[in-house]
Amino acid sequence: MRCTVQRRAILEAVLDLDNHPSAEQVYEAVTPRLPGVSKTTVYRALESLAELGVITKACHPGAVARYDCRTELHHHLICLHCDSVLDISDERLDELAVPDTSGFGFEVTDFRVQLRGICRRCREHSRREEST
Ligand SMILES: [Zn+2]
Ligand SMILES: [Zn+2]
Repeated sequence: MRCTVQRRAILEAVLDLDNHPSAEQVYEAVTPRLPGVSKTTVYRALESLAELGVITKACHPGAVARYDCRTELHHHLICLHCDSVLDISDERLDELAVPDTSGFGFEVTDFRVQLRGICRRCREHSRREEST
């Protein structure tokens, strides 16, 4: 399967970027290693890696999906200004009681908590602007 080489390079890019990259960012990171690779190939590979559970498709902080190389339970701090996504592990969040969703015919298999706000960098940036 010729996809295997591509997929591996794409997976490695997700691991290297290590910051919940978007498909676009992964595409940019793999092009030097996979010359001529199409955007569609990268997007599809990311989708199938997510389906296989090798990576997870994280939240949609902005308009685009983000991919996460950590598949174990963890949660996210999402900056509303710059769309950065930080990992946070917290037992209290892990133990959060999930409501009964059977009325929706919906089975919960997993959950992630997204805490939204302003990241340190953006806060420092806006503070600097205020003082000038
Ligand atoms: Zn930010
Ligand atoms: Zn994450």
